[in-house]
Amino acid sequence: MNQKIYLDNNATTKVDEEVFNVMVPYFKEEYGNPSSTYSFGKRVKDEVNKARTIIARHLNAEPDNIIFTSCGSESNVSAIMSSIRLNPSKKHIITTKVEHASIMETMKELEKTGYRITYLSVDKYGRLDLNEFKEAITNDTCLISVMMANNEIGNIYPIKEISKIAHEHSIIMHCDAVQALGKIKIDVKDLDVDLLSISGHKVNAPKGIGALYIKSEFIPLIYGHQEKNRRGGTENVPYIIGFGKAIELIDFEKEKDIENLRNYMEQEIKKNVQDVYIYGDINNRTPNTSSMAFKDVKADELMLVLESFNVFVSTGSACNSEIALPSHVLTACSADLDNYSPIRVSLGKYNTKEEIDEFVKKIINIVNMIRRRK
Ligand code: PLP
Repeated sequence: MNQKIYLDNNATTKVDEEVFNVMVPYFKEEYGNPSSTYSFGKRVKDEVNKARTIIARHLNAEPDNIIFTSCGSESNVSAIMSSIRLNPSKKHIITTKVEHASIMETMKELEKTGYRITYLSVDKYGRLDLNEFKEAITNDTCLISVMMANNEIGNIYPIKEISKIAHEHSIIMHCDAVQALGKIKIDVKDLDVDLLSISGHKVNAPKGIGALYIKSEFIPLIYGHQEKNRRGGTENVPYIIGFGKAIELIDFEKEKDIENLRNYMEQEIKKNVQDVYIYGDINNRTPNTSSMAFKDVKADELMLVLESFNVFVSTGSACNSEIALPSHVLTACSADLDNYSPIRVSLGKYNTKEEIDEFVKKIINIVNMIRRRK
């Protein structure tokens, strides 16, 4: 069997060895409850708060502004529900057509209860039009929720500009920064967001841990005394400690290497294969993401053949791949999916040049083989 080549790091990442190692004692010796008042619990609470401080520093926030959640999806839903409860008389929300399922599905539910949702459109490169956004604002708008980076095409959205406009109208601004974390700098003060979601498993921490930045007022989704009454539930101590370590290990210099490798991969493929189309805003993408389509080659078929060689990419977001629906992100970009259906290649810190060379070779052979058969 060939060595595995994992190129689906936007779906999830491998837990870093250092992250794993700092977690282990909190399963074994240090299993106290951080809410306990004796030292066995207090020690753990101190470590949870150290992780909180690391995460806060990374986001340029104060530790008190960070709560831990079970995942990025919980952070997103908590942010939305708090915002609408803080403004019960307002019934209009603005979001985009390219958000993650945790936002989209929450919006669909809110529509059933009488909320009006504006889903901002994107152009063929996945870009938003800020004029459309400004025109959508009404006196009834209580929340604007826009992602910082897209999981499928990698586009980076102008959160700072959107926040500014939101605040000129006294509207709460939430940002889903799950795919931005670790890939581009996030400064909550500079962005001036009210709420911002992140998740551990996109940055080499385990699955099942997230955090939410809360600037000021907040109504919890899960009631209880933990997290200063903002999120009930005994803290997931080992995962929180691991999340802190993973954030400490974020290295933006390494991200430049990843970007060079991604660009090299795209160039080599384009040099050797005809009719390649790359989706998204090519010059304004996360450094690791490439949404690549090969004319007349179905992404599903390409993905399956790659899998048979132990190479893993996806054809959209992992969250959608169980449902055989065309990607809502690519549909929003008016993509010609009959002729150009893309695979999503997302690199991570463990990918090497040798792996990318191997991947390029395989793509050239497989695409040519599929095209010859037609
Ligand atoms: N938001 C975006 C943009 C994502 O890509 C994801 C995960 O794929 C999430 C939110 C959800 O994060 P989690 O898997 O931690 O719930």
